[in-house]
Amino acid sequence: MKNSDAVPYGAAAPEEATEIREVQHFAYCPHRWGLIYIGCDWRENAFVCRAKLVHERVDRGQAASLRGSIVERSVQVYEDDWGLFGVLDALEMKSSPGGAAIAKYGKRFALTVVEYKPSRPRNERALFADRMQLLAQKICADHVFGTDCAACFYYADTRKRDAVRFAEADFAALAGILRSIADCRRRQRIPPPNRSALCSGCSMKDICLPKAGGEGCESC
Ligand code: SF4
Repeated sequence: MKNSDAVPYGAAAPEEATEIREVQHFAYCPHRWGLIYIGCDWRENAFVCRAKLVHERVDRGQAASLRGSIVERSVQVYEDDWGLFGVLDALEMKSSPGGAAIAKYGKRFALTVVEYKPSRPRNERALFADRMQLLAQKICADHVFGTDCAACFYYADTRKRDAVRFAEADFAALAGILRSIADCRRRQRIPPPNRSALCSGCSMKDICLPKAGGEGCESC
């Protein structure tokens, strides 16, 4: 599905623009997002450290050649109508006469947005959060490069790629997340905690679960 076919989110004021990684945090758990972006708090755990290590190499911002492709790292992107901005882990460029014109190389390329993850989440909600992040990246990359980018995850533990295709429902889900983020930000509201299987892997649990009574919360 092309970005142009997407459910429009509606133009956001510049100060309401959402960083792509916020999407992943909110889709994982709205309370987690609120602790980080409204409460300005942050905690790390083994999962966070592992993800940081995986990103270390791709975040150096240097182009490289891989299997006949050029790979640009840490690519800054944005999309004003969706009110999104952020950085792609990697953008893979394969020479293609019908692809996007990239002035730096004076050639046309088929583009793939690549998001690096330590491993494939087993939890469906966590997988959904990663998909929403990747979709936000694709929307921005489509806009900046004027093409319909492919998108995939690269899982470091298996060294395998997982190509992802998005449907209309995914665009609608992302639009809903962005509306919720904008609403919470406008009202400076931290959504309530929602204890779930995701809490065990959440780096914010030490400051979150005691407040949630340690055994549930107002929404579960
Ligand atoms: S511990 Fe659970 S409820 Fe609290 S922020 Fe993390 S995922 Fe959300």
